[in-house]
Amino acid sequence: TYSYNKRDEYFKRAVKVIPGGIYGHLGPASGCYIPANAYPFFSERAKGAYFWDVDGNRFIDYMCAYGPNVLGYNDEEVDAAVEKQMKEGNCVTAPSTKMIDLAELMVDTVAMADWAFFAKNGGDVTSFAVMIAKAATGRKKTIMVKGGYHGVAPWTQKLGYPGIIDEDVSNNIYVEWNKFEQIERAVAENPGQIACFIATPYHHPIFTDNAMPEKDYWQKVRKLCTDKGIVLAIDDVRCGFRLDMAGSDHYFGFKADLMCFCKALANGWNVSALCGIDALKDAASSVMYTGSYWLSAVPFAAAIACLTKLKKINGPEYMLNLGKKLTDGLRDIGKSHGFDLVISGAPSLWYMRIANDDSLMLHQEWVAECVRRGAFFANHHNLFINCAMTEEDIKYTHGIADDAFKAVKKRHPELG
Ligand code: PMP
Repeated sequence: TYSYNKRDEYFKRAVKVIPGGIYGHLGPASGCYIPANAYPFFSERAKGAYFWDVDGNRFIDYMCAYGPNVLGYNDEEVDAAVEKQMKEGNCVTAPSTKMIDLAELMVDTVAMADWAFFAKNGGDVTSFAVMIAKAATGRKKTIMVKGGYHGVAPWTQKLGYPGIIDEDVSNNIYVEWNKFEQIERAVAENPGQIACFIATPYHHPIFTDNAMPEKDYWQKVRKLCTDKGIVLAIDDVRCGFRLDMAGSDHYFGFKADLMCFCKALANGWNVSALCGIDALKDAASSVMYTGSYWLSAVPFAAAIACLTKLKKINGPEYMLNLGKKLTDGLRDIGKSHGFDLVISGAPSLWYMRIANDDSLMLHQEWVAECVRRGAFFANHHNLFINCAMTEEDIKYTHGIADDAFKAVKKRHPELG
């Protein structure tokens, strides 16, 4: 199994000059990577479905850079578009018309979209969505789902977290996923005060089995929002273009008012997008919202190439099918060794958990054994498929998983 030597030297350098060394959920201090000693911390290069760390270990990467790697690292079509645009110009006083080309492509691709607005990160557009809802309705309050993630802006965080004060979150109302009655009650208890309901298209929290919408859930939410003048904003940052090129609201048979995209938009180039309906276009242009790099042309060129290729190859269907093969196999291999591997969420961004013990320790042991053999999984975050992965890669991963189950079983004779 792999060893990590140079890794620790680099990390020592990093913590001296960077708070946390590697910050947020991408670092070894995060719950995603337990036990940290099983994981590589720094990459040296990446290609297709794989990356190599600073110790020369190769990983098939099921985190996909937390989603952006949708076509494969260094995809040739995207990178050709990037190189061409770099020669023409990137961050210029007057934006390139690539911005218009991309907005037109989004409007053509995303079913609900009458317009598109571009920023850099997922959190830029979830915050913008909530601001637009407030501007359009003149109301203060936002209903959101417990355990949902919309970024790191103060309004998205929890009271008690460092740096968060009660005013940041005092206009949020939290409901449980799939509990339409709770939304109904919140609306009834706050008449004329709810600007927005924001949620992901299905529930993909950390540490918890992911959950699809119950039958008619979104249709009921849609009707309530329409009846009460509430803006329905969907955070498609993670699911976007891994379920349906027309948007995840389309996949689940409803129409959102605002849709946030980011991760799979440009194969790792830095651009996010908010799409909206005509009725919210004036409110969107009324909000003061922009940034130094938001109109840069290289990421627009990357996004155009990425979306065009995803449409051409029917990326979402490919990833859903391949993900199903991978997860069906993992479940069966687990079963053959006496492990109950529970799979949830969509197969293109599935969540998994060994259910033999509630502490999740066995799960962490198995994941660590997979990582040390070259299959990069996080423990308690959903995982991702990309379009560079093949059936060969799935077989390779199944082999690693099999060996990892054997290693865990050997350490736990009590499992029988
Ligand atoms: N919403 C969802 C559903 C996400 O998964 C993420 C990123 N993990 C965000 C918002 C925030 O995106 P970013 O980190 O690019 O700001």
